[in-house]
Amino acid sequence: MLFKDITIIDKDFKAVRHQYVRTEGAFITYIGEADPRTLPEAGEIEGEEVYDGKNKALVPGFYNVHCHVPMTMLRGYGEGLPLQRWLFEKIFPFEAKLTPQDIQNGTLLGALELMASGSASISDMYFSINEMAEALDRAGMKANICHGISSLDLGQDLSKLPGYQDTLRLARDERAGVYGGIKGSGEGSRIRADMGLHAEYTSTEGLVRQIANAAKEEGLSIHVHISETQTEHQECMERHEGRTPIRYMADCGVLDVPVQAAHCVYLSDEDVEIMKAHGAAAVHNPSSNLKLGSGIAPVRDYLKKGLKVAIGTDGASSNNNLNMMEEIHMAAMICRGVTKDANAVSASDILRMASLEGARVQGRRDCGRIEKSCRADLLVFDLDKPHLQPDFDTVANIVFAAQSSDIVLNMIDGRVVYRNGEFLTLDKERVIYDANASFQRILTEL
Ligand SMILES: [Zn+2]
Repeated sequence: MLFKDITIIDKDFKAVRHQYVRTEGAFITYIGEADPRTLPEAGEIEGEEVYDGKNKALVPGFYNVHCHVPMTMLRGYGEGLPLQRWLFEKIFPFEAKLTPQDIQNGTLLGALELMASGSASISDMYFSINEMAEALDRAGMKANICHGISSLDLGQDLSKLPGYQDTLRLARDERAGVYGGIKGSGEGSRIRADMGLHAEYTSTEGLVRQIANAAKEEGLSIHVHISETQTEHQECMERHEGRTPIRYMADCGVLDVPVQAAHCVYLSDEDVEIMKAHGAAAVHNPSSNLKLGSGIAPVRDYLKKGLKVAIGTDGASSNNNLNMMEEIHMAAMICRGVTKDANAVSASDILRMASLEGARVQGRRDCGRIEKSCRADLLVFDLDKPHLQPDFDTVANIVFAAQSSDIVLNMIDGRVVYRNGEFLTLDKERVIYDANASFQRILTEL
């Protein structure tokens, strides 16, 4: 596709007007002011679609790096209960009834929402991850998927847990090129396996150490919940000789591989230093932390200290949507409000966190920015809207004024998956019907 005369958010997250951007296959092959069709080194491509960029902005696709996508099935279920009662009386009994087919149905429902609101990729923690991979592959999305492994049984052997076996199977499929990567190495695979460790409070130390070792052996990153609530942070210190969740995880070897640490609301100064030393990244989930009353992560401090920070929505039962536009808006607003500083974080910093930083956290080096030779994960925003005019500062308009409904095209790895309200990879009516059918069946079984 050739985007003609369009405003782009460039690799430095600045708006540049009147650009031509060409994609071929999965990649961006040209960016420039000149029409590549007139250049000898580029030229015409037969059958190429030319997309008129008038009143449009081309923005990098979003990387939503902490999610539980099948929980779309539980949206609005069990509202108003305190966390423990919500989990034990509502969520866990419902989840016990989910079949792999239900999980696919919930994943596809989430995929519709994610694609329409600008996500190119998610990092997801749930179960039945092989079925999730199939569903997200069908949608055309990218994903790093993990099974949130947990067990409080002393002497639990990791290799006997189905979630671990599913993880190995997904990693094998990735290496075999099942999801679009290079056969043999899996390089460039749209779907990737991560090792999942639910949290400090849901596993024994023995199991945490086995997970860390297995991740090292398999060459996998670890996705884990860290210091989400003050209670969790405090109780960890009581259980483990005053050690915070990050200190404890580092002692167990978890941080010896790349880590995506979700929430990180209560990191100590030492935690930040440990994470930096190991290259671990914090994933900011502002909506979920506010909705569940968990608190507000001091993101400006983290950024100032040089910690990597990306953004995620968390699951639909604690947000209650998977809309990265809302998360971007929220992250910018609360960071400035809490610090009482209108320059605490810039609009372009937030966009970078939502795309490039997320792609890096997922280990996808050629993704997350609009640059030649990078993968074409591109969103088109329609700027011809009253709330986006005048188009004086496009980056500020996108972060502070735009809505996800202004997204008129979502391209992932060069393939358009969503355009003008239509889904090109999934049958929206069918997906919504199937997800509701699963939900209703489970209600009758409870
Ligand atoms: Zn979570």
